[in-house]
Amino acid sequence: MLIARLIADPTTYSASLDAATAALEAQGMHVAMASLDDANSPVLQISIPKGDETAFRTVLDEHFRPSDMLVSDAPVMVPQIFVSDMDSTMIGQECIDELADFAGIKHQIAAITERAMQGELDFESALRERVMLLRDLSEGAIAECLDTRIEPMPGAKVLVETLKAKGCRTVLVTGGFHHFADPIASLLGFERVVGNRLAIDNGALTGGLAGPVTDSSVKKAVLLEEMAELGDGTVSLATGDGANDIPMLEAATYGIAYRAKPKARAAANGWIDRGDLTAILQLLGIPENEWVKG
Ligand SMILES: [Mg+2]
Repeated sequence: MLIARLIADPTTYSASLDAATAALEAQGMHVAMASLDDANSPVLQISIPKGDETAFRTVLDEHFRPSDMLVSDAPVMVPQIFVSDMDSTMIGQECIDELADFAGIKHQIAAITERAMQGELDFESALRERVMLLRDLSEGAIAECLDTRIEPMPGAKVLVETLKAKGCRTVLVTGGFHHFADPIASLLGFERVVGNRLAIDNGALTGGLAGPVTDSSVKKAVLLEEMAELGDGTVSLATGDGANDIPMLEAATYGIAYRAKPKARAAANGWIDRGDLTAILQLLGIPENEWVKG
């Protein structure tokens, strides 16, 4: 069984579903069930008894885009562990690019960030190269950058707090820096933070990192470690947008790509292309009257 839960423009559901059903049929996939959660829900659930997940997703993507979607091979449940990327997923910025602006080298650094997130550059060497360019920037600039530049992604806090209220553990794991991730985690409600540490000497960046680098393999390892802690059969959710999130997205029960780079989007079980982060709550079947707001 494959189940897709999706949100798109509801006025197109009927026509898009007819066209998608025909396209699936042409590939040997028969739609067994298609219905809304209830009359008030924007979530359309479509299931097929068997088929290839990628082919199923591709057909639905073509007929419903732009959509928010999650494809699963079992009924969708509220996860017990949520692990998320930070930059461009839980916040609207790439911290290192904003920091670079304070150093007057945003253009130079942002170009490297973009290539790294597209998967064109090795993450660790791209990170070390950019951090070296920030050498001598004052630690005070980090605090100012955080205060003036960094904004939570719409729906981030509602997502985290609602999952927590449902008994889900929440972890922020970032290739960015603890200087940003610690205050952001406490603002949004995350219970654990794993990230990189900028080395500081005499109140300024040394251009190096302190301790081991959090890269794509560490992100995945943190997810697996948290799942193991909770025992066999743990249902997990991971969200991210960049190439360094791919192993984590692939390892999660539900890997959801948020407004993601194409490689990350292709590797995930679903995506948010249309709504904000609260769309994930809808895809998980948590009705709005159960969301933790404010
Ligand atoms: Mg990111």
